Amino acid sequence: MRVGCHLSTSKGFVKTVEKAIELNATAFQYFPKNPRSNRLRHLDAKEAEKGATAADQAGLLTVAHSPYVTNLSTPDKDLHTKTVESLVNDLEICDAFHTPYLVVHCGKHVGQGEDAGRRTMVDTMDEVLDRFHGKAILLLENTAGQGSELGTTFEELMEIRAQSAQQERIAFCYDTCHAFAAGALDYDNWEKALERLQHCGALPLIKAVHFNDSMTGFLSHRDRHQLLGKGEIGLDRLRAIAQSPAFANVPLLLETPVEKEEEYADEIALLHQWVGETAA
Ligand SMILES: [Zn+2]
Ligand SMILES: [Zn+2]
Repeated sequence: MRVGCHLSTSKGFVKTVEKAIELNATAFQYFPKNPRSNRLRHLDAKEAEKGATAADQAGLLTVAHSPYVTNLSTPDKDLHTKTVESLVNDLEICDAFHTPYLVVHCGKHVGQGEDAGRRTMVDTMDEVLDRFHGKAILLLENTAGQGSELGTTFEELMEIRAQSAQQERIAFCYDTCHAFAAGALDYDNWEKALERLQHCGALPLIKAVHFNDSMTGFLSHRDRHQLLGKGEIGLDRLRAIAQSPAFANVPLLLETPVEKEEEYADEIALLHQWVGETAA
C-alpha cells in the first residue's frame, strides 16, 4: 500500500519529489496551481517533463487537488465558465506530471437547492470532460456537509456520477475526516461502513483516501482536520481503516495540520507500521 501526504510545490516539482523521498512517502498530493484562485497556470513543458521523470524514477504515485475555490455547483454563469476552464487546466497539468487523478470537492448549492446543485455539478463535470481529451480522471471527494456542501454520502456520490455522460472518467476520493463529520458512516463498526460502500457500488471506485483525524465530533458537519490520534476519530478506528484489505491498492494521503512538512515523517512511519502489520 502507498502512503504519503499533501506537499507544497512552491519550490518546483522536483524539490517536492525530493521531499517525498525524504519523508519515506510512496505517494503525494499537490495543488496544480494556486489553491486560492481559479487563475490558469501556463506550465513550462520542459519543467513539467523534469518533474514527471523525477516522480516516475522514484516510483511515486502523484495525486492533484483542484483549488479550494472550485465550486462545481456555482449558479453564477461567469464563475461557472472560469471553473470549467480552471479544471481543464488542472487536468492538463495532471497529464504533464503523469498524475492520474484530480481530486475535486463536491459542489455547494449556495441556496439553489440540492437537486439543482447536483444537476449543475454534473453539467460542470461533463463540460470539463468534453473539453479535456487526456488521460487524467476526476475524483469526486465526499464532503463534511458544511454549509450547503453536497455529496456527504457515497450513495449520493454514486447518484451524481450516474447522471454524468462521462461517468467512466469519474471516480472517488474518500476523506476520513469528512465522512466522520458528515456522520454518513458507522465508525464504531468499520466493517459495516465498508459493507455500505460495497453495497452502493462505490468501493471499487475509491482511488485515493484522504487520511485525517477530525477535530470535531461525529455528525458535527465541520471540516476540521486533526493530527492522527489527536482528534475525535482516534487511532483505533483509523488503524482499522488503514489496515482494511479494501484499500490495499489505494494511496493513503495525509492532509493533517502540520506546521512543517518534516512533521509528516512520524505519521507516515505510523502508516507504514500499520500497513506492515497486515502484510505480516
Ligand atoms: Zn480531503
Ligand atoms: Zn477537509
